[in-house]
Amino acid sequence: DHALNDADPEVHDIIRKEKDRQFKSLELIASENFTSRAVMEAVGSCLTNKYSEGLPGKRYYGGNEHIDELETLCQQRALAAFHLDGNKWGVNVQPLSGSPANFEVYTAILKPHDRIMGLDLPHGGHLSHGLMTPKRRVSGTSIYFESMPYRLDESTGLVDYDMLEKTATLFRPKLIIAGASAYPRDFDYPHMRKIADSVGAFLMMDMAHISGLVAASVVGDPFDYCDVVTTTTHKSLRGPRGGMIFFRKDPVLGVDLESAINNAVFPGLQVSKTPTHKGGPHNHTIGGLAVCLKHAQSPAFKTYQKQVISNCRALAKRLGELGYRLVSGGSDNHLVLVDLRPMGIDGARVEKILDLASITLNKNSVPGDKSALVPGGIRIGSPAMTTRGFKQSEFMATAELIHEGVQISLEAKSLASGPKLQDFLKFVASPEFPLQDKLSELKKRVE
Ligand code: PLP
Repeated sequence: DHALNDADPEVHDIIRKEKDRQFKSLELIASENFTSRAVMEAVGSCLTNKYSEGLPGKRYYGGNEHIDELETLCQQRALAAFHLDGNKWGVNVQPLSGSPANFEVYTAILKPHDRIMGLDLPHGGHLSHGLMTPKRRVSGTSIYFESMPYRLDESTGLVDYDMLEKTATLFRPKLIIAGASAYPRDFDYPHMRKIADSVGAFLMMDMAHISGLVAASVVGDPFDYCDVVTTTTHKSLRGPRGGMIFFRKDPVLGVDLESAINNAVFPGLQVSKTPTHKGGPHNHTIGGLAVCLKHAQSPAFKTYQKQVISNCRALAKRLGELGYRLVSGGSDNHLVLVDLRPMGIDGARVEKILDLASITLNKNSVPGDKSALVPGGIRIGSPAMTTRGFKQSEFMATAELIHEGVQISLEAKSLASGPKLQDFLKFVASPEFPLQDKLSELKKRVE
């Protein structure tokens, strides 16, 4: 049995390079974070060797006494981390990630072609909430269910709850989904609850992006109002890559959510006996998640999440001073959405230039955008660099580095041979790129 560098130097070297990239770059992708050494130790452990289909005490494979103990501990910690009463709420910690968790909820409580409403993707929603385009049903959610997305009020950048209410009254969805991938504000859960009740719909919150903030009680609490809450575990929660589903234990709209959801996870979707599905629980992930959820109950975690918010506010403030327009005018959470269109540039070009300078963030659609491939904005998140120890002053300096990258992007755009994104990318990649010195100088300062 050999260590990785002996057994496979090629993979070892790729991991070394990725570690170096993560270490040197400014990691500003709002959905990413750096998990702890303790979590990675559990994820890289012998737990990966075990099959354990079923739930603790009810398995289809033998030898699960320690896995039962682990999964039960993980469930208890999950409820405790989110301040939940185990008589009222249950949790399934087996979803392999956020998208499967969402699809498992849909298959648990909906029938094929039932109607759902989630936030539209170009307005900050997630593909797994049911994106439709006029030509195509894009994700599995919109293929198997009838989706009518709700949207933002473009003048304020806030969810248009009045329009959601009017549309829900006509469309009569069975499920309304709160939560987003690129929304800098809190959701109005009481309002959404009222709308869901008025049409007899379930209310689900996908808190993937903000679950760390929810655990630390620094944003609104979706558990007070929702029937089901899903999350990924690797974003602001800072755990291993995975998913969880929380459900109310009392029946909702006549449905026993506990058995419906547990059955949807297994044997509904995550079953190893059919070649088309991914397989049983990832016990190594559940081990890492248990470690993460212990930490999520500590005072240090609360301090970290408060810093995530303070850092994001500092970033937003400095970007505002530098003349940038922020969608909704600011942020209540861990991310800002910058509308670059008034600057005469787009998110795709800026993302590329910043990438070359070791600043990693996403291009992102902003309300009113025409193209998803060349969107008008960028999304910037604070969780990862806060884990690396950044405080407000470092985030202000980060805003300035981004600003320099935007200036280089504008200059490159004006010098490129044509108006298309492809012309720009080719120009930037060419050995004669005249702004290479400026870019290298920025990269050196970032690193
Ligand atoms: N839900 C939301 C709101 C997300 O932002 C994401 C991922 O970015 C997901 C679900 C999907 O998570 P995963 O990539 O783990 O499937």
